[in-house]
Amino acid sequence: MKNPFRLMLCACAALLIGCAAPRPLTPASRIAASRRPLPLLLISIDGYRYDYIDRGFSPTLAMLARSGVQAASMQPSFPSLTFPNHYTIVTGLRPDHHGVVHNDMFDPRLGKFAQNNRQAVDDGRWWAQGTPLWETADRHGLRTATMFWPGSEASIHGYRPDYWLPFNFRMTADQRVDQILAWLDLPAAQRPDFLTLYFDKVDHNGHRHGPDSAQVDAALAGTDAAMARLVSGLKRRGLFERMNIIVLADHGMASTPLQNSVLIDRLIPLNQVQVVSTDILAGFNPRDGSARAAAEFAAIEHQLEQPQQHMHCWDKTRVPKRYAYGHNPRIPQLLCLADVGWRITTTWKLAHHRKPISIGEHGYDNADPRMQALFVAHGPAFRVGARVPAFPNVDVYPLMAHLLGLPAQPNDGNYEQVEDMLVPAAR
Ligand SMILES: [Zn+2]
Repeated sequence: MKNPFRLMLCACAALLIGCAAPRPLTPASRIAASRRPLPLLLISIDGYRYDYIDRGFSPTLAMLARSGVQAASMQPSFPSLTFPNHYTIVTGLRPDHHGVVHNDMFDPRLGKFAQNNRQAVDDGRWWAQGTPLWETADRHGLRTATMFWPGSEASIHGYRPDYWLPFNFRMTADQRVDQILAWLDLPAAQRPDFLTLYFDKVDHNGHRHGPDSAQVDAALAGTDAAMARLVSGLKRRGLFERMNIIVLADHGMASTPLQNSVLIDRLIPLNQVQVVSTDILAGFNPRDGSARAAAEFAAIEHQLEQPQQHMHCWDKTRVPKRYAYGHNPRIPQLLCLADVGWRITTTWKLAHHRKPISIGEHGYDNADPRMQALFVAHGPAFRVGARVPAFPNVDVYPLMAHLLGLPAQPNDGNYEQVEDMLVPAAR
């Protein structure tokens, strides 16, 4: 966060008008009001594991589930990390296909990407292998608004949401909800048809204190209070029963005790590789293009591909098929995936960390029960009190495209698999 003060001002101003000036209204390019879909609000509660809803701290979410649809769980794509999965949800593409393959990436042309590197996050070239739903919506004359979403701060193929804000963790959950309500209060011609809303406290506390902590319970309660504020705001406007709402998460959370650390520097000479990422899914490339670097890398790869304690390592061409991961040029040549409940780190990092080490983690095998995410949906298009089986998160995109009446771009999802959530008239 280079200039939090500026972002703060921006967020405050945004409560009234939104940071980005909307593109000028060109009515000819806008579809007739009568043909506009019901508004669709996509809400992500980062790190909300599928079973958190049963803890008793999410009464509003439980109400939405009772009067709408709840999936047994939703499976994240691999790796079960925040940026890859948020972009999967709005593109329907596996990370291998949309190119946001990790929170920490290296691209020979673009350099380094990290989720807190604003310059990289704002660079549309990192996101351009996928087409986010807001772009397709804009191209078809709908209006879009993102109250935070990974990718929404970049101009992708020359498109941005009509209304958006730069990510600012200081903006409270209530302020975010109020911004959504303010956007819905705009005159009909300017009102967004597709909106996103993002909450981060559940994930933050899951990392810091572990998924079973009282702090996660408090974050669940705090986020639910914001959801209650949203629902009552929508009811006051007569909108609650006239719009579709999807509440989901990008991944779950596992307990990763401090002592469960694989020290990678004790296994291989780190000065002989380029370290692209560590923690849960570590990635390594040869340190340069020389024959010597290639030989050193081959030896390291051979060593790590032997059975290891608490992790599995593969050349990217040998990653097990079910992960659907390894073709994208941005994926490092050698990958090491920690077993659930473990982290891959270095002696130096453990000794010199500035932030507390996370004792809750995700990024693991996306089939593990602890990585499974929440999915709840409510609104006129959705059945009442329906329970549906677990499904992969690539299916959310074709579902949303259907609800908005938009042509889905090529994707890895399957609308038929989730069609059963909808009332017959909405299918
Ligand atoms: Zn996340």
